Amino acid sequence: MLKMSKRLLENLVHGPVTRLKPREPFEGARGHVEIDIDKCIFCMRCMRECPSGCLTVNPSDGTWNINQFECIACGVCVSVCAKHAITMNETPRKPAYHKDISTYRGTPPVRVAKAKAPSEADHKAPENEKKESEAGTPSAEA
Ligand code: SF4
Ligand code: SF4
Repeated sequence: MLKMSKRLLENLVHGPVTRLKPREPFEGARGHVEIDIDKCIFCMRCMRECPSGCLTVNPSDGTWNINQFECIACGVCVSVCAKHAITMNETPRKPAYHKDISTYRGTPPVRVAKAKAPSEADHKAPENEKKESEAGTPSAEA
């Protein structure tokens, strides 16, 4: 009883141990994810690392999609993006009536296909072709 009374008195004079949701975001608050699509190279790393699976990156059509309603604002995508294209806005996103997926369109880099190393068969091919053409060409003497 004495212990409890002491705690009660402490709570009466002590300020609240929690804080109300601030009107202004505090430093380092995780509000919502934003992307600068012009910096994105569509490497898909953010999509692979996102624990909630709310990101979809499609290099073939240059789209970067996020379902903000499934995002848990963990910040993993921000830390893994080598191009610093993703940032964490400190302000929580606005409430919405519909669970829309936000789509951003960018320009994926053009990937140049690596030249295939010539195989042994490729080296022999011109020779074989030559022989075949020689065999197929009717001689002038005939
Ligand atoms: S946002 Fe960053 S990590 Fe995600 S696809 Fe673009 S460049 Fe890669
Ligand atoms: S903050 Fe976390 S949950 Fe949200 S998109 Fe990035 S990795 Fe996914």
